[in-house]
Amino acid sequence: MSTFPTPRRGARLALAAAVTVAAALTGPVSYATSGSTAEAKPSPGAPGLGDPMFPLDGNGGYKVDRYLLDFDWQAPRTPFEATATIKATATQALSRFNLDFGGNTLHAVTVDGKAAGTARAGDELTVTPKSPLPKGRSFTVKVTYTADPTQVRHRDDAIEDYGWIPTPDGTVVYPQPNGARLIFPANDHPSQRAPITFRITTPKDLTAVANGKLVDKSAGPGDRVRWTYDSEQPLSTQLVQLAVGKFTLDDRTGPGGLPIRDVVPDALVEPTAKYRELTADHLAWLQERLGPYPFNRYGILVGDTDLGVALETQTLSLVPKADLLGTQVDAERNLVHELTHQWFGDSVALKSWSDLWVSEGHARFYERLYSQAHGGDSFEAAMKAAYKAHDQWRKDFGAPAEPTEPNLFKRMRYDGSALVLYALREHVGDAAFQKIERAWVTQYRGKAASTQDYVDLASRVTGQDLEGFLKPWLYGAKTPPMPGHPDWVVDPAT
Ligand SMILES: [Zn+2]
Repeated sequence: MSTFPTPRRGARLALAAAVTVAAALTGPVSYATSGSTAEAKPSPGAPGLGDPMFPLDGNGGYKVDRYLLDFDWQAPRTPFEATATIKATATQALSRFNLDFGGNTLHAVTVDGKAAGTARAGDELTVTPKSPLPKGRSFTVKVTYTADPTQVRHRDDAIEDYGWIPTPDGTVVYPQPNGARLIFPANDHPSQRAPITFRITTPKDLTAVANGKLVDKSAGPGDRVRWTYDSEQPLSTQLVQLAVGKFTLDDRTGPGGLPIRDVVPDALVEPTAKYRELTADHLAWLQERLGPYPFNRYGILVGDTDLGVALETQTLSLVPKADLLGTQVDAERNLVHELTHQWFGDSVALKSWSDLWVSEGHARFYERLYSQAHGGDSFEAAMKAAYKAHDQWRKDFGAPAEPTEPNLFKRMRYDGSALVLYALREHVGDAAFQKIERAWVTQYRGKAASTQDYVDLASRVTGQDLEGFLKPWLYGAKTPPMPGHPDWVVDPAT
């Protein structure tokens, strides 16, 4: 997502308490490597993956192979019937397992067609199958519920509102960072990717859209229409998009014939056309630097909302209308930012939330690089200003790769992290930096990757040990000297 977050009071105590509680709950969590013998005694899957920011997010003991989401959409702000069918594989012998699921009214859960026991506590839905699941077993969980499309949560950082975002005639969704669970029961952590099939029925005067490709539009029951979308590639739950409304679908092609489909509320088609048509140029510009666009299609979903920020939902970025009705410089910064995320954050997913700097730092880096060449501010001047504030940001928001949960989406993860990439480029030179970037999006395409992965890859690609250079930038309490700019100064933190 993109925006200019404002500093907020810290909440280190609350975080420390949350981590302590969650650590007690999850214990030593491994990423699904537990259990070495097929006859291991069945045990509960971990309720969380132990993420440093959100320890209970995601779940242990299984991997999701595919989600099939059926939504019987009725009207804005109106509850509707929904079914999530989750195909998964047990990675340990399971006596029970958890899904992340918040709010909504749960009706029933089956595992392989048999009624399962359920218990809910906070955002944890514990499912106990009739018989334990052996390690390696494929199984199907079916959850029926009444979805409440008014559910929104709030963060006091750049995210602000997330979850379901109602529009005048329908909805869009904003799942980042962990609001997907308000939409469907999920393994809700960015490292956990799976393909999704969406089947959404709507009244016939509305259009439903979702990530990926429209594979079928057919008559539904009564006077309704059923829309089926396939995500084509796996995606993280935080990158899910589904929207319903009175939309015009604006089809074009981009570089290499890439299908571009914008989804635009009817009244906003003409007023937003000029900036939306720049997507093909943005794709060409980014592909020159990063190599091939990583997905089969792209488009902009124009949000008819007062939402403050855009979101890089996979293959279909959500862009609030205000971002497309201002100046061209501002519009292009937001558009290039979300498009850059399709490489950084979407195609290469986050291994943990502490790796957010990789995704937001790159999105801001290329957004600023593009903007400088297209009528915007000087990149160097912006980086010099970020350098000046960097010690203060380290103190207020945590070092780039060491965020605290309340300060996750603060300026340090945007300009503060673009600055780390700027420093790296100054240190290794532009040609070597471009080699690192290409290698990153190529080697980790379709995978989750961590900060350490980035440091290791940068060292490998350049043939020099960059650990000693990057670690102080990413984790230190003090900002290191900026290579090539001995005159740059950091203001002391107060
Ligand atoms: Zn972003």
